[in-house]
Amino acid sequence: MTTLLERDQITIWHPFTQHQTAPLAIPIARGEGAYLFDTQGRPYLDLISSWWVNIHGHAHPAIAKAIYQQALQLEHVIFAGFTHEPAVAVAEQLLSLLPAGFTKIFYSDNGSTAVEIALKMAYQYWFNQGERRHRFLAFQGGYHGDTFGAMSVGQSSNCYQPFSNLLFAVDFAPYPATWLGDEQSAEKEKEALHWIENYLNQYGNKTVAVIIEPLIQGTSGMRLCRPDFLRALQDLVHQHETLIIYDEVMTGFGRTGATFACEKAKTIPDIICLAKGLTGGFLPLAVPACHEHIYEAFLSEEMDQALTHGHSYTANPLGCAAALASLELLGSEATIQQIAMIEATHQEMLSQLSSVAGIEKRRHCGTLAAFDLAIQADYGSSASRNWRELFMKLGLIIRPLGKTVYLLPPYCIQPDDLRAAYQKMKEVLEGSIK
Ligand SMILES: *Cc1c(COP(=O)(O)O)cnc(C)c1O
Repeated sequence: MTTLLERDQITIWHPFTQHQTAPLAIPIARGEGAYLFDTQGRPYLDLISSWWVNIHGHAHPAIAKAIYQQALQLEHVIFAGFTHEPAVAVAEQLLSLLPAGFTKIFYSDNGSTAVEIALKMAYQYWFNQGERRHRFLAFQGGYHGDTFGAMSVGQSSNCYQPFSNLLFAVDFAPYPATWLGDEQSAEKEKEALHWIENYLNQYGNKTVAVIIEPLIQGTSGMRLCRPDFLRALQDLVHQHETLIIYDEVMTGFGRTGATFACEKAKTIPDIICLAKGLTGGFLPLAVPACHEHIYEAFLSEEMDQALTHGHSYTANPLGCAAALASLELLGSEATIQQIAMIEATHQEMLSQLSSVAGIEKRRHCGTLAAFDLAIQADYGSSASRNWRELFMKLGLIIRPLGKTVYLLPPYCIQPDDLRAAYQKMKEVLEGSIK
């Protein structure tokens, strides 16, 4: 009899995986709350919300039921020329949660395509008004997804060398990453803003848009910036009459403690990209949303002024039903209290880690906590792999990004489980578990 792992090895090419050296995949049979269970029934505490998507816990019955009931009614319909209740209801919900000024919801299937669409919206916004603008400004270390436009604005992450000749030119501003006790934060912000001001003085009227992961650069190592920086950036962008795109694919839906990072930072982008947490991790669905003035630039008697972009699964009713159920859970008193509990626990437990040698740059933002190991390690390096495997042996799903260890749990995690995870992590870091 061939096992699941043998069948996997014969047939599957996994993402972000060097199959020649990767350890065997872990066969997961089911999930419940913050736990995943392998085919032997062994539990793992999911401290990364399964690639940052699962905000309410695994196999949540309310979301599962919403999908089932929707599937009995309508599973899909072409979204050009047709509409349906779940798509409109999700749009209404999102617009009520987004800052004032957002009026239109577009749909796609994942974070990368939400970014592609945001870039295209911004680019054609100028084009339709007879302006020829070609420059995008992004931030050093930013990550925006793996399709070509998203790779172009994320090229400073150095993830895309084989494709470098195919990416369009993007300029990269310094990013003022900060952490607890960082005394240079104001200085770094000043330098970054000075750089951006010079850039916009020179190229502002050629700049299509500035794109940023607000408050947390995720993939490049959970690098935080302060809300003050985002406010000053917004002022510069407005002064120079260009657009700002917030990639909130990871920061959206409560991750930073507020519903969206823009709300926490008291800023209002022109376009916002949402994905990951939108359906609570159940189905792929994403949203680039924009203001009325962006939308209006596409209105004309001519088809070529329209946004000619769409995917076959755009606004899939099952995805929308999952999103509605997930948004309802997100707004519940229980979830709001859980988010506050996680934030307080991160704060307390990170301060306990301050006595541990070999860690630096402790930081937290909402339900995310992170610190760096004082070692040299790149994404996927053997050091981070060893850590990952060590944590797995302890039943903890923690996957360091290079030298950055981070916790980004589903909001339903139990306080005792989160504390116990920190305790085990502390023992690992102190070398008493090897
Ligand atoms: C994950 C991520 C993306 C890409 O989303 P996918 O759904 O993986 O395509 C884009 N931007 C940010 C900030 C992300 O964290």
